[in-house]
Amino acid sequence: MTAWPPLPQDSLVPEIEDAARQLRLAARYRALDLEPAFPWEEFRGLGKARLLGLRTPRKLGGRGLPLPRVGIGLFHLGYLGGTTFAKLSLQPEFSSVLADHGSEELVDRYFRKMVRGESLVGNHVTEPGAGSDLSGLATVAERSRGGYVLTGTKTEAAFAEDAEAAIVYARVKEGSRVQEAVTGFLVPLDAPGISRSVIPDLGERWMRRGTVRYDHVTIPRGFRLGEEGEAFRYLVPELLRERALLACIYLGVARKSWEETVEHTGGRSAFGRPLSAQEAVAFPLVEDWARCDAAWLYAQQALADMGSGRPVPAQAALAKWMATDAALTTLDHAIQFHGGRGYSGDLPHEQRWRDVRSGAIAHGSSEIMHVVAAHTLWPRARK
Ligand SMILES: Cc1cc2nc3c(=O)[nH]c(=O)nc-3n(C[C@H](O)[C@H](O)[C@H](O)COP(=O)(O)OP(=O)(O)OC[C@H]3O[C@@H](n4cnc5c(N)ncnc54)[C@H](O)[C@@H]3O)c2cc1C
Repeated sequence: MTAWPPLPQDSLVPEIEDAARQLRLAARYRALDLEPAFPWEEFRGLGKARLLGLRTPRKLGGRGLPLPRVGIGLFHLGYLGGTTFAKLSLQPEFSSVLADHGSEELVDRYFRKMVRGESLVGNHVTEPGAGSDLSGLATVAERSRGGYVLTGTKTEAAFAEDAEAAIVYARVKEGSRVQEAVTGFLVPLDAPGISRSVIPDLGERWMRRGTVRYDHVTIPRGFRLGEEGEAFRYLVPELLRERALLACIYLGVARKSWEETVEHTGGRSAFGRPLSAQEAVAFPLVEDWARCDAAWLYAQQALADMGSGRPVPAQAALAKWMATDAALTTLDHAIQFHGGRGYSGDLPHEQRWRDVRSGAIAHGSSEIMHVVAAHTLWPRARK
């Protein structure tokens, strides 16, 4: 019998196992890839089980757990239900700018509802001319009586079709003067002047990503999030947390495929002995174990540092890069060592690989994670 390396433990784990069983998360993960849709039923189910917003303060309806424990919870959600439900659990985290800087009315109407799994808020940052480099952001919010008029195009956005509202990043314009610094707005996506379309994706198909166009959309002043020009400053702590937490999700997903591959290669015979007796098969799987464990410890350290008030931007960035890289290699081995079936949709490894592959692009690409770390070492290199 295999002596499995222990999974990270926490008193939260039995609750997650219970929810995963009741909501059939593993089966739903597979089904949502074939028929992409936003999983409202499971979202509400996770809300009822209080598994949305594990870090979110209790006063906003979350669990208020310390970051390393949130990482353990997300690892297990990824392990049991793939990226989908772990990312849903993290969804309130992606709206921290709303929670921290929105009016009480907005927080109540959109954020608290999201923690209950009853509302979905997207994030609209990326544009056709601005992704990694946001200096090219072209969406403008022109000051008007009572508020702003928003015009621009946002691309690559998750939940383009399904979100009820989005946090939209734009530059404030008055007359011919456009502010350099960026401002955040909460925009209900049923407002007149908004059109949305979805693009087909390699993975994370349930997110139904796409383009959202804003054509002279009226936004009341009360829907501005915090002060003008402060949005990116507000976004930084959220980004650091979410990068290290996404690392935990990818490692949970990879661990599941790794276990399945260790079992499979120990049982399947070729040329008169188990596949695992071939060093060409066994050694990569042993290396995956070490690489994923190392990435896990690194991510946990970054989360612990952040939790004790030390901002560690380089470590958060490197945690995401390292975990994504280790998880993708592990998932590639899972596909490879399951042979022909590994490449097929009969087994979950190819879906897991496609979904985790997004981790090298979304929330800052792997290259940009290196840029962030390099700026910590050579601060003068920063523009
Ligand atoms: C699954 C998924 C979900 C997403 N969800 C959202 C969302 O909800 N909202 C949203 O606003 N956006 C979202 N995005 C978009 C994502 O944030 C951007 O795609 C990402 O920031 C990269 O920007 P870009 O696509 O413009 O690529 P570019 O910035 O054009 O980069 C292209 C390539 O060049 C590399 N590159 C760029 N600059 C450098 C450099 N200085 N050094 C080295 N390499 C460099 C990049 O790493 C990348 O590989 C999502 C993306 C994915 C895949």
